Amino acid sequence: MEIMENCIFCKIKDKQIPSFEIWSDDKFYAFLDINPISPGHTLLIPKQHVDYLFDIDEKQYSELFMTARKLAPMLKRGTGAKRIGIIVEGFLVPHAHIHLVPLNQGNQLNPANAKPMDKTELAKIAERIKNVL
Ligand code: 5GP
Ligand code: ZN
Repeated sequence: MEIMENCIFCKIKDKQIPSFEIWSDDKFYAFLDINPISPGHTLLIPKQHVDYLFDIDEKQYSELFMTARKLAPMLKRGTGAKRIGIIVEGFLVPHAHIHLVPLNQGNQLNPANAKPMDKTELAKIAERIKNVL
């Protein structure tokens, strides 16, 4: 699999940088955001490096969103949230990613609500979500 030098998400999916993995297959990788808007805030990325979401080829784009659809019930049950919201921005990390954010109320889906979470807490949440499978 090609790796884009100095891309933090390429390094994460290649396990050169540690992350709290939620799920992966040969094409996609899902892991907890270290600055979550809410507990269980997950980033879903294609393993192939593409910067901008809408540059992804049609087939992989559909598969990416089908993967988000597959992960959402897992995140919902693992966190007890009422809904899973989606954000795509990509101004901080130029490797396409979908934010999947557990939500319990309106106006929660706001990057301004993001706060760093410590690794012990992230590890606990990742285990809870993975155990839903
Ligand atoms: P965006 O590019 O969509 O604006 O934001 C990138 C997201 O990636 C942010 O929510 C940020 O907290 C997250 N992020 C940045 N660096 C890392 C990292 O090293 N590990 C993890 N798990 N998340 C990261
Ligand atoms: Zn990359």
